[in-house]
Order: sequence, then structure tokens, then C-alpha cells
Amino acid sequence: MKISTGVINCDVIPLVGRKQVFHGFVIDGGKVRNTGDYDAIMEDSDDIVNLQGLTVLPGFIDAHTHLLNMGLNMINVDLSSIESFEEAKYYMSKKLESGETCKGWIIGTDFDETKWKKGKYPTKKELDEISTESPVVIIRVCTHLAVCNSKALEMIGEGENIDPKTGIIKEEQLWRLGEIIGITRADKKDAIRRAIQKAREMGITCAHEIVDREGWEAYKELNEDGDLNFRIRCYLRYNDLGDLEPSVVSPYLSLRGIKVFVDGSLGGRTAALEEDYEDDPGNRGILLLSQDELEDIIETAESRGFQVMAHAIGDRALTVLLDAFEAAATRTKELRHRIEHAEVLSEVNIRRIRDLNLILSVQPNFAYKWSRPRGMNERRLGKERLKMCNPYWDAQRALVKMAFGSDTMPLGPLFGVFSAVNHPMLEQRISTYNALQCYITNSAYVGLDESNQGNLSNGMDADFIVLSENPLESDDIQNIEVVMTVINGEVLYDGRDEEA
Ligand SMILES: [Zn+2]
Repeated sequence: MKISTGVINCDVIPLVGRKQVFHGFVIDGGKVRNTGDYDAIMEDSDDIVNLQGLTVLPGFIDAHTHLLNMGLNMINVDLSSIESFEEAKYYMSKKLESGETCKGWIIGTDFDETKWKKGKYPTKKELDEISTESPVVIIRVCTHLAVCNSKALEMIGEGENIDPKTGIIKEEQLWRLGEIIGITRADKKDAIRRAIQKAREMGITCAHEIVDREGWEAYKELNEDGDLNFRIRCYLRYNDLGDLEPSVVSPYLSLRGIKVFVDGSLGGRTAALEEDYEDDPGNRGILLLSQDELEDIIETAESRGFQVMAHAIGDRALTVLLDAFEAAATRTKELRHRIEHAEVLSEVNIRRIRDLNLILSVQPNFAYKWSRPRGMNERRLGKERLKMCNPYWDAQRALVKMAFGSDTMPLGPLFGVFSAVNHPMLEQRISTYNALQCYITNSAYVGLDESNQGNLSNGMDADFIVLSENPLESDDIQNIEVVMTVINGEVLYDGRDEEA
């Protein structure tokens, strides 16, 4: 599209007022103008695009992603829909034969043993059956745990969170993998390009991306190359902070905050709980940071103007984190500190989150996948505590601000909206309109982008998507097609091209 393009004959849901809909606008200098004013649209446009009655929404803003990792994983073996280790072994052996590996490593990603018949992690011995010469690693869907074969273990070495017997490595050992494999900056830039294209195809125009220092440099280079064309708000791992400051590098790229982990995951039984795991008596998970350590981090972040993005899943982790915010934070409203996942959430903690003005950044796809009857969360927590899992309606009713994201597990905002609307616990379902607000307007707010993005009123950035169907009227939201994705007034994905 050129400068000053009129977009007509569409149903625009601007996410401004609940009932508000208009049917056309002008894209002018990357901004939205003349909303709903047909005479002005026809007068001011050099060019007209007729959308034939399709629906327009502001672009989705995924508030929690690992796009760089996702792009790297696109050349690995996706095990997310595998139902047994035998099946995983088959695909990984085929990968080995194909020779198209990640620098000689055979890597399987997103396995979920809770869906497997045996329900157990594979062992080092089993992975040695795939190869003893090539390194083989299989990474759990939570990305907090992986199993290695003998060769991979040999290359990783010894250390904390490495079990030489079972081949299991955990937490920080997984973050080192890229370095050990020898992935270069150029590999990373390619991976980002792949992932961003996928994100645009799914209707995402902005993502809050968690990076290490090297990832941040890769994003900066892409931006300098003029090759980003997608909005990325980076959150840097706290230990990688160095002397960096929050910065807006371009309208596409900025560094917003720091990421810290308070605990692990429910899948890996490392989320910190108040009571024992239902399926692992004696285990209450791991607290990765104490309240004192968290307070120091919050103070440092605030003194340097960074937003705090804190991963906390278990109820014990959340309580410690809230205690730390209560004791140390003084700039929460302005910097918009946020809690990621918050899956096991008590009523008391919901109220504390609201009273402390913190923002919940949650992933409805997790609720849909794991909170079903007899699903993983029920096995880990039992029936009673399952009721505390992902309580979206309770949070909304308590006026807690919630932003939605996917954690790239998998990427897909329409599936996320579908998941929140069809929450496995009926009493926690929210409306489609509210789910869209969480995935767009609230995500813009938590990313400090609300004056330019998050709705389609006059003067906002022309970041929008065209959908095959109106989600407010659809009973099949997850299968709505993204027809077009426009960022900064530029068409960056056009599904109609593919059909033609
Ligand atoms: Zn994450």
C-alpha cells in the first residue's frame, strides 16, 4: 500500500467502545485516519482497497514470546503432537538420516510426557538408541527440562542441574545449549526472520520477546538492516543486563524490561507450591530467588527505569514475589511491573496483585491444554487446587489488568482467544470481546505502547489484521483465517497472494 490508502467495505472492531464498529478508514503515513467517515476517505485516498466485507481488528500483541528460540526450533524435530517415546525416536532417527540437523545435533522440542502412554521422561539410555556418535537432546515443552544422550552429556560437561545417570538437565543448563552447539549471530538473525514471518501470518504485529544479551544484539542488527518490519519489545534476562539502559531504538524495536525467574514449571514439578505435588509427595518445587534477592532486583530495575517481568507459577512463588514487590517497589504504576504465568493463583493473591497495581501476563493456551479434567494440572495439583488454576474470570472481576500471550507454546493468538472463551473451568470463561482486549489493548498497555497501538482510533499506528470472520460472531474462533497483516501501514502478509 502507498501513502494515503483508503480501506473500505469492512467491519472494523476498533476495540475502543464495546459497541463501536465502523466500516472504513485511511492509512496515511503509517497512521489510521478518517475512521468511519466515508466522504473523507474517498476524498483523501490516492488508492482504495475494498475488503469485501471482511473483519478488521487491531493487530494482536503477544505479551510473552521466545521468537528467536522458535525460529531456531523450526529446524529441529517438533514433538508437540507425539504420543510415545517410540514415535519420538522414529522422527529423530529420520532427522539424523536426513543430515539436516542443527550443526550436527539432533534436537527434539516440545515433548510432553504427560500425553505419552508411559507418562515418563525418556532416559539417556533410550536416547543412546538413536545415536551414540551424534549428540541427541530432547527438550520438554516447558523448556525447563531436557534429556541428553551420552554424547550430548559429554559435550555439556558436569555441573549443577545435570544428572549424569538419567541424562536430565534443568534450568540454566538449557540456556547454555545454544553456546555449546555453536549457533552464530547469522543463524540467529535467520531464525528471527523465520519466526517473525510466522507471527505475521498468525495476525501478530507486536511481541514482547525474552532475550539474552546476544539475542538483543541480533534484534538490533536486524533493525539496523531495515529487516525487522515487526514490533519487538525486548525483555532481557536480568543476569545479562550489564550496563544497558531501557531504550527505544526505532518504532519497531525497544528494550523495555528485565526478566527474572522466581520458580520453574508445573510440568517439570519445579513450580514452587505451598503444599506437596499431588503426584510427587514431599516435593514442593524450587524457589529460584529469595524475597531478599527479589527486592534487590526490583530496586535495581526501578533505579535504572526497567520494567520487571517476573516468572512465577506456583502459589508459594507468587506469595514471595508479591511480598517482595510490596516491600521494594515504588514505581509499579509508571513502569508497569508484570507477573508472568501466575498459574496457581489464590483469591488473596488476586486481590494483592490488584492492590499493588501489578499486571498479570498469562497464556490462555496453557489453561486450555493443561487444565482439562484429568489433565496435567489436575495430576500435579489434585482436584481442589485445580480450581486455582488460571482464574481469568476471578481476576477480571477483581479488576486486575490481564495481558495475554502464548509463550510460543505454540504461537497463535486466535487459539488463545478461543482458549479463554472456552476455558475448561466454565466459571472462569471470559467473553470474546474481553479476550480480544486482553490480547491487544492490555498487551499494548503493559508494553507501554498504548498511545500508538492497541486500538484503531484516529491517529493510532496502522497495525491491523484482516480476518475471514468476525470473532465476536464466530463459534469457531480458533479456525478463523488471517487474511492480511499490516504493520506501520505496510502489508507484510497477504494470504490472498497464496491463493492466487
Ligand atoms: Zn516464557
